[in-house]
Amino acid sequence: MINKTVQNILQNKYTNALDQKQKLLEVVFLAQELLEKYQLPECEIYFLMHSNFRGICYNSGEKISLQIQFSINEDMEEIRNTILHEIAHAIVGNENGHNLVWKKKALELGVRF
Ligand SMILES: [Zn+2]
Repeated sequence: MINKTVQNILQNKYTNALDQKQKLLEVVFLAQELLEKYQLPECEIYFLMHSNFRGICYNSGEKISLQIQFSINEDMEEIRNTILHEIAHAIVGNENGHNLVWKKKALELGVRF
């Protein structure tokens, strides 16, 4: 099954440039791999066109969004770090914000600060 975000990439919703589309697919696959690894198969990845944030976690892990320009331009290591940051939110719940509970989980996942 092709998810909505992959479909959007293939239909040029974010960019027409082939190298940028390949990068976005790579980002989605990395995110899906990490979501599986941390047992969040229900969580969906979206791209945001206009956002001041690199990533956002909604409703305690129902959905994670990544900023589109960040996803296109940043290197995979930095993107992986942002995805793990949001996954830590998804695991401990958004009510924890960036408190010690979240930070402990983030460190456990290998998030760099
Ligand atoms: Zn955060």
